Amino acid sequence: MHTKTINQLAQGLRSGEFSSVELTQHFLQRIRQHESLNAFITVTEGLALQAAQAADQRIASGDASLLAGIPIAQKDIFCTLGVKTSCGSKMLDNFIAPYNATVVEKFNHAGAVMLGKLNMDEFAMGSSNETSFYGPARNPWDTQTVPGGSSGGSAAAVAAGLAVAATGTDTGGSIRQPAAFCGITGLKPTYGRVSRYGMIAYASSLDQGGPMTRTAEDAAILLQTMAGFDAKDSTSADLPVPDYPAALNQPLAGLKIGLPKEFFGEGLDSGVAAVLETAISEYRKLGAEVADISMPNLNMAIPAYYVIACAESSANLSRYDGVRFGYRCESPVDLTDLYTRSRGEGFGKEVKRRILMGTYALSAGYYDAYYLKAQKVRRLISQDFQQALAQVDVIMSPVTPTTAFGIGAKMDDPIAMYLADIYTIAINLAGVPAMSVPAGFSGGMPVGLQIIGNHFTEDRLLNIAHQYQQVTDWHQQTPTL
Ligand code: GLN
Repeated sequence: MHTKTINQLAQGLRSGEFSSVELTQHFLQRIRQHESLNAFITVTEGLALQAAQAADQRIASGDASLLAGIPIAQKDIFCTLGVKTSCGSKMLDNFIAPYNATVVEKFNHAGAVMLGKLNMDEFAMGSSNETSFYGPARNPWDTQTVPGGSSGGSAAAVAAGLAVAATGTDTGGSIRQPAAFCGITGLKPTYGRVSRYGMIAYASSLDQGGPMTRTAEDAAILLQTMAGFDAKDSTSADLPVPDYPAALNQPLAGLKIGLPKEFFGEGLDSGVAAVLETAISEYRKLGAEVADISMPNLNMAIPAYYVIACAESSANLSRYDGVRFGYRCESPVDLTDLYTRSRGEGFGKEVKRRILMGTYALSAGYYDAYYLKAQKVRRLISQDFQQALAQVDVIMSPVTPTTAFGIGAKMDDPIAMYLADIYTIAINLAGVPAMSVPAGFSGGMPVGLQIIGNHFTEDRLLNIAHQYQQVTDWHQQTPTL
């Protein structure tokens, strides 16, 4: 049951092959069995079984949506009413959210069953899940390696068949990079496509929630539920939502693909490069035309991102002061002691590093030199994308320079860790959508292909990924656990 697609499961639920309660029990059993992957922070067994019972009734009455009774899991960055929402941090280890994120509300409304909350890097800061207060999730393809981050629990859970699908969030690569490391499909939508209401903020101008699934078809089904205008999020886009599943079957003949030379140069592992070459030739067979392009400002993406993301996070994380909610230190002697010790004890090392860098970049005297400069670079990078996407329909590139690295391998070297997102970060600065699609293996570990499109072309990206998945079976490979 845990290798079936959403459509297949919905069919099974309707034909009476199994009930949602049985399906949910199957996944709960798998979660217990593979607890050592540390993919979940919280398992909501009781709530899941209740939701499954309700879904079974809706299905029996003939009034159920496609997602009714389907067991999914939420990244622990999405607020869930009455359920611990930790964001991977000691700071929120005691936080029971008093409301649902819009995304969670939409899945509940569709009748999906939430199995629990997924492990992640603390406040979504990281590329390996190792900054989590709850310890790293593990990559089911090789448990000595990281699943990627920050949505590492989401990727590990879907790859290991502990949930049919999961949500993730992506500020600089956190959906696509773990999807690539774990061999699943991940989509970071256009900024503003999915509501950020109730999604704990890291860097507000970059954060975007999206689906993490086995197949592009499942991603289309999830995005259909997640996307759309939300009056509670002032940056959400007030645009109609296309029918994503209906767009999957368009032919690709005449599709123009651009390959930026800056993304295929030095630093790209040769095993990863070989897999991508084969994937691109598959697209040629499907009728696509491939052109070399150049995006000269991409090399500035990492420095610009780390100034902007840290600046925004230093502002967003100022709310964790030990007063209103979250961790509070023992017996503070005065207000300053309450602030400094609550924050000092509640935040982990990487989060503190980012707050310090961000506060510095925003401080008087340095603002122009760092923050303003980074914003100008951001505009140049955006223009690179607009110029490239005026010549071609989509851009293809690697998702990551290497396959999943070992647990502990980069923890003492933050710069090496930041470079793990070298191919994903520019996309967030430009606000455009991008996917990671399983494209093969190198040394036994999954490799992802990145497909990048113009704003609000998620329908086309899903279509391009789906057509590839009709002629390849990389997305169907499962790790032996
Ligand atoms: N690894 C990047 C960072 O640490 C991206 C994380 C993300 O997308 N949330 O900021």
